Amino acid sequence: MEKTLSIIKPDGVSRKIIGEVIKRLEENSINIIAMKMIHMTKFQAEGFYAVHRERPFFDSLISFMISGPVLVMVLEGEDVIGRYRKLMGATDYKNADEGTIRKDFATDIEKNVVHGSDSGESANFEIGHFFSALEIVA
Ligand code: GDP
Repeated sequence: MEKTLSIIKPDGVSRKIIGEVIKRLEENSINIIAMKMIHMTKFQAEGFYAVHRERPFFDSLISFMISGPVLVMVLEGEDVIGRYRKLMGATDYKNADEGTIRKDFATDIEKNVVHGSDSGESANFEIGHFFSALEIVA
């Protein structure tokens, strides 16, 4: 069983899309094994997106991610990293497949509603960034 980190970003929370995202997880037999609402500090967001530090959109991305609360979740399932990324759709919603979360709800390449880890290595780092072992159900 694989694990991945999901974030419903500030746009998803403020636009009340949490239920829609969770519905799609449940419909696709993806288990939620940890969940919490947090309002990230700048330090937390910069650490999370450290791999993007040199990208031109970094400052804007950090401002967006700390603009309001987010829902962070640990998801578990077979091939869940790839399956959740497929449910999310392409980074730029304009290129996302029909029926994906980003195609249906994103409004901007940055304000794209959800985050999902892109590899096992990222998932381990990202889950550890937000959750202790005690917060994850067995
Ligand atoms: P993801 O794995 O699909 O989330 O995409 P990336 O890891 O490449 O980028 C991380 C996040 O940065 C994306 O989900 C967007 O919120 C944001 N982002 C990516 N590309 C751009 C861009 O060209 N401009 C802006 N403003 N934000 C971007």
